[in-house]
Amino acid sequence: MEIKRKKVKELLSMEPGAEVLAKGWVRTKRGNKQVKFIALGDGSTINNIQIVADTALFDEELLKKVTTGASLSVRGKLVESIGSGQAVEISASRIEVLGECDPMRFPLQKKDTTLEYLRSVAHMRLRTNTFGAVLRIRHAMAFAIHSFFNSKGFVYLHTPLITESDAEGAGDMFQVTTLDLANVPVHGGKVDFSKDFFGKKTSLTVSGQLEGELGATAVGEIYTFGPTFRAENSNTPRHLAEFWMIEPEMAFYDIEDNMELAEEFVKFLVKYALDNCADDLKFLNDKYDEGLVERLQGVLSTTFERVTYTRAVEILEKAVADGVKFEYPVHWGTDFQSEHERYLVEKYFGKPVILIDFPKDIKAFYMKQNEDGRTVRGMDVLFPKIGEIIGGSEREADLGKLERRIDELGMSRKNLEWYIDTRRYGTVPHSGFGLGFERLLLFVTGMANIRDVIPFPRTPKNAEF
Ligand code: ATP
Ligand code: MN
Repeated sequence: MEIKRKKVKELLSMEPGAEVLAKGWVRTKRGNKQVKFIALGDGSTINNIQIVADTALFDEELLKKVTTGASLSVRGKLVESIGSGQAVEISASRIEVLGECDPMRFPLQKKDTTLEYLRSVAHMRLRTNTFGAVLRIRHAMAFAIHSFFNSKGFVYLHTPLITESDAEGAGDMFQVTTLDLANVPVHGGKVDFSKDFFGKKTSLTVSGQLEGELGATAVGEIYTFGPTFRAENSNTPRHLAEFWMIEPEMAFYDIEDNMELAEEFVKFLVKYALDNCADDLKFLNDKYDEGLVERLQGVLSTTFERVTYTRAVEILEKAVADGVKFEYPVHWGTDFQSEHERYLVEKYFGKPVILIDFPKDIKAFYMKQNEDGRTVRGMDVLFPKIGEIIGGSEREADLGKLERRIDELGMSRKNLEWYIDTRRYGTVPHSGFGLGFERLLLFVTGMANIRDVIPFPRTPKNAEF
């Protein structure tokens, strides 16, 4: 009689005794003339189920096909394991090789598969333990994000990926066009976008925030969670050309409420990971980053330090005077580099930091202006090992001030009329922030390179698959 397959995760939690059916991929095979031990994994957990095959019961040719990477269907009895490391194993009565895997050619043969090497076989790397763990954690975090906002009554707002808005200046944009690039229509010496698909110049979004504000000033509290595109030519371990961003936007929140929400949010996510991804975190901790679990617990048990930009500059200037060497200079008015952010977080405060009150000239036009006339109510949340993980602000709610700032910066008001309408009609104080999903994952998984926390990374000169 056929029985239903059970996933490895479930099998490992069962009591011995049942007849079971398992399916998965061979991770390793070892043994001797009498008995073979096969570690079988199916991606449901980092752990494998051990298959014990008495060689007397199986054709030698069949067992030869059981090589690393091959896919199997195994039927047998779940028995108590005498070996260490697992409570139960399967004593096999039937083994079927679903798909062979040529050991000479399989790219994941080598034991010492470095992350660099795996990036070169990115189409297969998802099969490794490391990427299995990363993918499960990535899923858990996405689920937790929706769950967090849902429990607070936020509305998940879908903002457009194709947009005409380039006003925010958050990053360089990828243009979207159906024009024939070998034969571009020209009018008066310029590209004639009226001939383009949308009848105007369009790009991929660098942020859903401005549209998010339309949602927040309608239904109160929204969040977006979607792909974001920035044509940044910076080949750093923290930047992707296509990444995912979560952008909550809240009516009636001031900067204090905003900071409180951001802190509660990341703590919720970190706790969710510790509670629900323990096996995967332990694996990554042991393999790549011994301090990982401790660092995650550290975030939960601490209150983030709130520091003004001006005070942070003083701290950094003092550090420089005391002999600390930074690659980039720092003085009031400069944007911090990640070396500065990490000094504040890792060396000076020893905990996550929320920086506030930035010089208005290094921040976007929509941030609420402080009384001093020089600073705006922005906030960046800085994390150990990563630097900026969240960027946000209280928004300028005053119509006149917003319009003056747009003019000051030489931006076109005409293209922003739709946005300015939020301030024209029933304006309210409101705030929001953007969390880079992959930056969060860098922190939660302990991986060092952002290319290793997204399944199919897009970076300059790299868009495989
Ligand atoms: P950075 O200074 O690190 O380049 P930013 O200030 O340009 O970031 P924001 O415009 O504030 O970024 O975007 C909000 C969040 O999105 C950032 O805090 C970060 O977590 C994430 N983020 C921004 N750019 C990228 C990118 N190219 N790849 C991955 N995540 C990014
Ligand atoms: Mn930022």
